[in-house]
Amino acid sequence: MSESSDRIEKVIILGSGPAGLTAALYTSRADLEPLVFEGVEPGGQLMTTTDVENFPGFVDGIMGPELMEVMKKQVARFGTRFVLDDIIDADLDQRPFVLRTGQGKVYKTESLIIASGATAKYLGLENELRLRGHGVSACATCDGFFFRDVEVVVVGGGDSACEEAGFLTKFASRTHMLVRRDALRASKIMQARVLNNPKIQMHWNTEMIDVLGDTEVTGIRVRNNKSGEETDWNHIEGVFLGIGHTPNSKAFTQWLNHDDQGYLVTEVDSSRTNVEGVFACGDVKDKTYRQAITAAGSGCMAAIDAERWLESKHG
Ligand code: NDP
Repeated sequence: MSESSDRIEKVIILGSGPAGLTAALYTSRADLEPLVFEGVEPGGQLMTTTDVENFPGFVDGIMGPELMEVMKKQVARFGTRFVLDDIIDADLDQRPFVLRTGQGKVYKTESLIIASGATAKYLGLENELRLRGHGVSACATCDGFFFRDVEVVVVGGGDSACEEAGFLTKFASRTHMLVRRDALRASKIMQARVLNNPKIQMHWNTEMIDVLGDTEVTGIRVRNNKSGEETDWNHIEGVFLGIGHTPNSKAFTQWLNHDDQGYLVTEVDSSRTNVEGVFACGDVKDKTYRQAITAAGSGCMAAIDAERWLESKHG
């Protein structure tokens, strides 16, 4: 049987990446005493990156996990409460909203800010997951800079993979694209860009079946799925996954407008969803920019939107 709390929160925030923590910073400083559910991946995607050099304010850059730690400490100063749990089910028809957590507890809240992020898809290979942050990445914009004058691979053939490959050519001496079919899924213009880029080498019908290296990537094992031939590429030092992201929106898609991939849809220039009192920010609603700084900015928007909405309700 679920544990219930009679307390009705003013605002519950789901997610503790840059979007959720910024929303918490603003709502706590507005005396709304936010309750933050840390979500499926406490700290968000930055917890799996290393150096972050594109978040303004850090002259020498900062490690992803450290950035999230200082953000959390800053937020805690203003009285935000944190719960190490996830929201897996919601009833947004009721007022206050009713939320059920992964640990079977029930919470009630007047307003809800969804900052649950998106999860980059990985192939699921054991060594690929082990070497995340040590040569394996799912974000070229975040980590590409560290792969100067070495050879890297990008796995995938959609717009994300093409974009990542194009970006990586600024740094890497050679970028290999591994495409599992004999065609790209990407839009024509993105296809043309990679196919015409002399620094990108295409490998059709090719799958990565292992990542090699003890403490960092020193190579990969690939299989040609037409011939079945397996080869070790010992000249690869960086592996970028570009096989898509999954927005963490499952608990809410029954209630909230979303696109065909599950990204929540908000009003233009706003964090408002189609349900009054529910706001969305960060990667759960953004498949275009997906940066820590844009997520933080949209978390700020959601906090201000929630604060104004609560104010309009209570006068
Ligand atoms: P997509 O789903 O469009 O493409 C995923 C790619 O990864 C496909 O080539 C797919 O292969 C491949 N893939 C998936 N799973 C595996 C696997 N297990 N092993 C090997 N390859 C795999 O995802 P994207 O993230 O590229 O794009 C998502 C959406 O965002 C799209 O609508 C895209 O247009 C949009 N987008 C737009 C951008 C832009 O316009 N600049 C930039 C980035 C994204 P297969 O084709 O065989 O299924």
